[in-house]
Amino acid sequence: SRGGPSERSAVLQPTKNVHFRKLTTMAAWVIDKYGSNEVLEFREDNRRPSVCTSAEVLLKVHAAALNPVDVAMRGGYGSTLLGVRRDALSLGWMGGEFPLVLGRDASGVVVECGSGVTHFQPGDEVWAAIPPWKQGSLAEFVVLSESEVSHKPKSLSHTQAASIPYVASTVWSALVVTAGLNKDSCSGKRVLIVGASGGIGILAIQLMKVWGAHVTATCSRSAEGLVRSLGADHVVDYTSGDTKAQLETLEKFDVVLDNVGGDTEDWAVTLLRPWAGAKYITLVTPFLLNLDKLGLAEGTVQTGLTAGSKALKNLCDKGVHYRWAFFAPNGAALDQIADMVDEEQVRPVVEAEFSFSKVAQAFQKVEQGHARGKTVINIH
Ligand code: NDP
Repeated sequence: SRGGPSERSAVLQPTKNVHFRKLTTMAAWVIDKYGSNEVLEFREDNRRPSVCTSAEVLLKVHAAALNPVDVAMRGGYGSTLLGVRRDALSLGWMGGEFPLVLGRDASGVVVECGSGVTHFQPGDEVWAAIPPWKQGSLAEFVVLSESEVSHKPKSLSHTQAASIPYVASTVWSALVVTAGLNKDSCSGKRVLIVGASGGIGILAIQLMKVWGAHVTATCSRSAEGLVRSLGADHVVDYTSGDTKAQLETLEKFDVVLDNVGGDTEDWAVTLLRPWAGAKYITLVTPFLLNLDKLGLAEGTVQTGLTAGSKALKNLCDKGVHYRWAFFAPNGAALDQIADMVDEEQVRPVVEAEFSFSKVAQAFQKVEQGHARGKTVINIH
């Protein structure tokens, strides 16, 4: 009844294949074309990524988070430039970007390290912000460069940790790299954060307060309690009348971080101290849209002209610096943020949690706007 050799191999073979398949495949939410929420598809037979270069690490993802850029990328935003970056790096996109995995935040555990990796070993708990030209974290596994990864704060769960890396790296790029602020230069500086109640604002307020700046924040009335609890010194409700007029009654600012864009930049630059090195930094730029609409060459020229002429005009007319800022992966910055979290200077704000099977609902939540913190997906 136990069967002879031929019967045994017939029984064992499929078992082996199932095991092998489990090691080479993974579950992930993928898109095979751009569009609205119905393009999101859960599949269990995706190719599991592996470490290909000496500087890479393979992470098992425990939690991921969504950002507005995921909703935009689902619809094709940035595909012109990101496609070029993916091809140049040959990151497993064999002839096109699909199937594409979204998700820019990851908290998880290191499974495997390239031979040149020095900071991490299998079993380490880590967090990372994933560049948009790489496969994302709405998957069981993700491969990243060592420089993009950081040890996660010990005091946070994976769910809490996943809410921080992408917004923290972007805030670092905007306020530290572009505005030139740091722990020694912030004391006494007046910083205005326009659009303070979402993911970026939450991190920006906290970082500026840790470093001793005076923070004014704009948000709607329903977010005032949250924004004050994070440390904002002064809050302006943008829904209760003329925001510009309300802000004009205040002392002028040294730095404006604009997370809203559009008309905001026309008046926000006028709130800065003239001829004092003050900076207006916006995260809402037409850069990738220009490239999508006009193509790589014309889009780059158009973008350069727009940014350059605005910078020149604001410097000559108003005596203020006008700059665009962008997310940049930065494991070293995450190391510093992790210390601040473990010292209870910075805290996560998770507004909504979804299970891995409910990623489409999580996208709907983010797409509705009015964020009051981050939307996190628990994967394992
Ligand atoms: P979120 O969606 O998390 O938050 C946006 C917040 O702004 C919400 O709380 C919203 O609440 C509030 N808001 C909307 N309109 C206004 C307004 N007129 N004045 C004040 N607050 C307002 O987005 P993020 O914080 O993650 O990102 C902010 C922006 O930065 C987005 O446009 C994003 O695309 C961009 N970004 C750019 C990056 C880059 O590389 N350049 C990287 C990361 C983000 P409510 O509507 O209820 O007021």
